[in-house]
Amino acid sequence: MTVILDRAPVPPATLLLREAHLLDPRAGLDGPGDVLVRAGQIVAIGEPGTLEAPADGEVVEAQKLHAFPAFVDPHVHLRTPGQEYKEDIETGTRAAAAGGFCAILAMPNTQPVVDNASIVQSLREIAETQARVPTGFTAAVTVGQKGEHLTEAADLAAAGAAGLTDDGLPIRSANVMRQALQYQRLAGLTIALHEEDPTLSAGGVMHEGDVSALLGVAGIPSVSESVMVARDCDLAAYEDGRIHIQHVSARATVEIIERAKAAGVKVTAEATPHHLLLSDEAVRTLDTGKKMNPPLRSEDDRQAIIDGVRSGALDTIATDHAPHARDEKEQPFEDAPLGVTGLETAFAAVHTDLVVPGVLDLGLVVQRMTAGGEPFGLHVPTLAGGRPADICLVDLDAEWQVGEAGYESRSANCAFHGRTLTGRVRMTVAAGAVAFRERTFAIGAVN
Ligand SMILES: [Zn+2]
Ligand SMILES: [Zn+2]
Repeated sequence: MTVILDRAPVPPATLLLREAHLLDPRAGLDGPGDVLVRAGQIVAIGEPGTLEAPADGEVVEAQKLHAFPAFVDPHVHLRTPGQEYKEDIETGTRAAAAGGFCAILAMPNTQPVVDNASIVQSLREIAETQARVPTGFTAAVTVGQKGEHLTEAADLAAAGAAGLTDDGLPIRSANVMRQALQYQRLAGLTIALHEEDPTLSAGGVMHEGDVSALLGVAGIPSVSESVMVARDCDLAAYEDGRIHIQHVSARATVEIIERAKAAGVKVTAEATPHHLLLSDEAVRTLDTGKKMNPPLRSEDDRQAIIDGVRSGALDTIATDHAPHARDEKEQPFEDAPLGVTGLETAFAAVHTDLVVPGVLDLGLVVQRMTAGGEPFGLHVPTLAGGRPADICLVDLDAEWQVGEAGYESRSANCAFHGRTLTGRVRMTVAAGAVAFRERTFAIGAVN
């Protein structure tokens, strides 16, 4: 099955990246080299300083920069249709490009919900004029995300939906979930799952643990997630379906996924930068900028998420970029909406807190961040001749303060707002075209 991504028309790039440090574990690259891109395709990779500048293109002096295959984020809330005051396709994909992403998948929990073919088609038409990077649109599993009646998966697939998910909400009924997996045989779309048992999580606003007890705030227990993941891994095994577990937050969930994978269940999973970097300690001050669902959990859970990314139990790092307006987040903790933005900080945050201290290997992080489309049938970007140019250029030594120069996103509710991070994306080439160039990034020479 070919997944369809859309973006606004842009001229394909012809450029030479000169003497960048090329890092792509999949291609076996880890050292200085030149990359020649012609008409949007990688045509040659050579020893540093050996490839000739194209007569009709640009030379990017990249001596102090790393070149990675660009990242793919399978979990982005673009808020279109209906909540464009938070984000839209243009601003959200601009944020993605600034974060080094060459492709993203948008979530369907919009107003109205993306639950029929005509909404998918209209979103694709908007993306064809506004999207800065190739964008795919997922559609709901159930009509209105009400968890009762299945959407027309075959119609949605024919209209170009990239996957199915009721993200924002779990699929309460095991029987509805089972039927969705049965229809998957016809439509083939991967089902992405936001996992929580509402009878366990209802009323909670943060992780149930020592901090919630101390604050006297209602908690969401980690079993609320893990019991549903166990159920859905069993159902996927029984129906031979393909599922993708979104934003894993708990140790028990990682362990269930490990066991299911070992047993041959077709399950993939993602971890977010905020669950990798922060624990419920960050919620001690009742900062609404740290409120999301699933919540930040215990330090032990956080360590399990890191181990899961390292081992591959968790296949990819996804942002769950969830923009909200300032006045919405400036409410009391209990009332504030769930979610944080993260496209522009994902790599830098993980690099600063996990790669620099030696917790995770840089190449492994690059591998996990490029793998986001794989569960949905998208190709994995790689630095190799004959492939479309999906490249991000990163200055690993650059320090910057999050939010200081504003955001490309329309919203500012970033989990790492105000922090100083190390590592800055200078340029992103997405599907053969330059999608982002950092303001301060001087071009070496233009032929
Ligand atoms: Zn979710
Ligand atoms: Zn989400």
